[in-house]
Amino acid sequence: MDFNFGEKEKRLRMEIREFVKKEIPEDHVGGLFAEEHLDEDWEFAMSIAKKLAEKRWLTMAWPEEYGGLGASLWEQAVYTEAVGYWGIPGTSMGISGVGWVGPSLMLYGTEEQKKKYMPLIAAGEPDGVWCTGYSEPNAGSDFANIKTRAEKKGDEYIINGQKVWTSAAHRSRWCWLAVKTDVNVSKKYHGISIIMVDMKSKGVNVRPILNYVGYHIFNEVFFDDVHVPVENLVGQENKGWYQLMHSLGFERGSVAIGAYGANSRAFDELLEYAKEAGLFKRSDIRHEFAGLAVDIEVQKIMAYETIAKMAKGGTPIYEPSRDKAYNDVLMEKMTIFGTQLIGPYSQLDILDKNSKWARLKGRIERGYWMFLGLSIAAGTTDNQRNIIGQFALNLPKSY
Ligand SMILES: Cc1cc2nc3c(=O)[nH]c(=O)nc-3n(C[C@H](O)[C@H](O)[C@H](O)COP(=O)(O)OP(=O)(O)OC[C@H]3O[C@@H](n4cnc5c(N)ncnc54)[C@H](O)[C@@H]3O)c2cc1C
Repeated sequence: MDFNFGEKEKRLRMEIREFVKKEIPEDHVGGLFAEEHLDEDWEFAMSIAKKLAEKRWLTMAWPEEYGGLGASLWEQAVYTEAVGYWGIPGTSMGISGVGWVGPSLMLYGTEEQKKKYMPLIAAGEPDGVWCTGYSEPNAGSDFANIKTRAEKKGDEYIINGQKVWTSAAHRSRWCWLAVKTDVNVSKKYHGISIIMVDMKSKGVNVRPILNYVGYHIFNEVFFDDVHVPVENLVGQENKGWYQLMHSLGFERGSVAIGAYGANSRAFDELLEYAKEAGLFKRSDIRHEFAGLAVDIEVQKIMAYETIAKMAKGGTPIYEPSRDKAYNDVLMEKMTIFGTQLIGPYSQLDILDKNSKWARLKGRIERGYWMFLGLSIAAGTTDNQRNIIGQFALNLPKSY
């Protein structure tokens, strides 16, 4: 398989580099779940989203009529890799819009829905910021167990229930919500639907949950007799389970190439640090670096393989799970090695952004506290392994 990029992709890479130099301060530390906590970070992220949108980079692979550039998947890969490497903020529009709401609407949405919602995401507008409401107190890995109920009355759904761990709900205008539209079903994954809910609706109540380092990234969201027009149903009523398998594929599939970029940056910076600090003289440390270099190269090849399959018109099945599980493990390995290398400096308070003692601008500590959450979000590593077992290795089902 030949992964050589053409002139177009090389030019794009240079253009993004210039954009980063001009728009993003050198000491900025970005990355997933870094911008929802503080108002100033969120505003900065949204200002960058707007600038990316002006270039149509934010959603570059979407068709032009919905605000994209109609770019190839390889151009998008170059962009996503750079987003990861340079930690470009504002690229996910909340957490869901660019990654899976838009692509899912392209598959299942009506023409009216595509025209109404996709351009708002592509334009980097506050009204194009989305959160995702799947998990509930008793439904995470066992997603089919959701209880949030949507009852159809006339031309509206009335929604009641609770979601949890809803990332960016406090920043979002819309929620991509999984609900139960039929409870009289023989299998629990039947009767599920996807409904788009305006977060400004009466009866929507968002309560913060702080994560273990004090960041406000996710929330509990309560729905108390929330009225939603029936035209906000996405795809077919009660067939949401099947649609969601695609949406989750988009979510997991969006991880790999950006993660490769972010891991490469952390690797480059750690290597520079080790050389400057005289640590590179130690053979055990050189061996660790060599092992990580191999792991990161493997990550790149797997991510590119997934893209190559899609570029040829194929649908990845187990690959997004493989790529996500691989990154979960690699990120843990790399950030544990990084914190050991930096030593006690890596125990600095992560919320103290301006600490003069922070090494590598706190990038490694941030990765360290993020890896556990990322290995759970979008489906735990264990569950990705179940999918790989079933669909790649033809092992018996795990449930
Ligand atoms: C940073 C972060 C952001 C998140 N953002 C969102 C969001 O925006 N929207 C949203 O809806 N949810 C979100 N979540 C929730 C996330 O999707 C769930 O936490 C996840 O699916 C796991 O569900 P659970 O927490 O109920 O754990 P459980 O499903 O109860 O899992 C507990 C443990 O059991 C293991 N386990 C469970 N089932 C199996 C099995 N069949 N085989 C083997 N092991 C198994 C798991 O691997 C895990 O170790 C987020 C979570 C995190 C950490």
